[in-house]
Amino acid sequence: MEKRISGSTRLLSLIGTPVDHSKSPIMYNYSFQKAGLDYAYLAFDIPVSKVADAIAAIKTFNLRGSNVTMPCKSEVLKYMDDLSPAARMIGAVNTIINEDGKLTGHITDGLGFASNLRDSGVDVAGKKMTIIGAGGAATAIQVQCALDGVKEISIFNIKDDFYEKAKQTIASIKQEVPDCIVHIFDLNDTKKLYEEIATSNILVNATLVGMHPHENETPVKNTSVFRKDLIVTDVVYNPKKTKLLLDAEAAGSKTIGGLGMLLWQGAEAYKLFTGKDMPVSEVKDLYFN
Ligand code: NAD
Repeated sequence: MEKRISGSTRLLSLIGTPVDHSKSPIMYNYSFQKAGLDYAYLAFDIPVSKVADAIAAIKTFNLRGSNVTMPCKSEVLKYMDDLSPAARMIGAVNTIINEDGKLTGHITDGLGFASNLRDSGVDVAGKKMTIIGAGGAATAIQVQCALDGVKEISIFNIKDDFYEKAKQTIASIKQEVPDCIVHIFDLNDTKKLYEEIATSNILVNATLVGMHPHENETPVKNTSVFRKDLIVTDVVYNPKKTKLLLDAEAAGSKTIGGLGMLLWQGAEAYKLFTGKDMPVSEVKDLYFN
């Protein structure tokens, strides 16, 4: 490391809280070293109340950019000079690019989801998707898949605040991508859920159901809905294989876990920071298995 850091090394950061568990520093610093790029990446524990100071620091120290994690993803929005179409539609930013003091906000979660599917040989264009969830990860996936040409999205969520938020996402998708058919249903209407899954190509869990320490939970209790030509994906990456994926796999469905989405959203941000491709397969073997 001491040989790599010089007087011209540019800093990149992760801001949010907590950040001490993050895989991002090791993933990016390994990739910079491997590619001989003069960048260094550090995580900073930043609560929402310190976002303004963190943004000022990004400009003062001329950072190349920053990743943003919970709970700061919406707060940073108001400090951006420009936004990518997805960041504007979602109302959240996870990657900031600094061009001579001009900050542009991007969101790569949905791109990471789509790249992870592509990495497994699945293209969302022209497909029907049933997605359970309407929170941060779900919204990013819904917007990106609509932008990527998905034909129809059926969103299911419990009747909480996220259900109301989904109505705004739907309005935004209808305005920006009028060809995409998108509806929301109550997750407790299981009859409707199973009907929509029956006519879908892809089923996504984008809630926290099934996440550690609740590994025995699944948002789809009736395992007879899984079929060989249904692709089942989960954003949850702890555990690597959720009960949803294990049930679907047992019924012969193709399954795709959430760890790949995490890796690919980082790879998308790496491309924005450096203009180059991250050595994804090496990083995957070293840190994501
Ligand atoms: P969030 O708080 O924004 O959204 C939570 C979602 O879960 C909402 O739709 C909410 O209605 C739903 N929910 C909560 N409790 C529920 C219950 N008991 N039954 C049914 N639905 C319920 O959270 P988020 O940031 O979207 O994160 C959701 C999951 O996605 C987490 O497990 C997170 O680790 C994971 N995630 C993964 C990636 C990745 O790259 N793989 C990226 C972001 C988030």
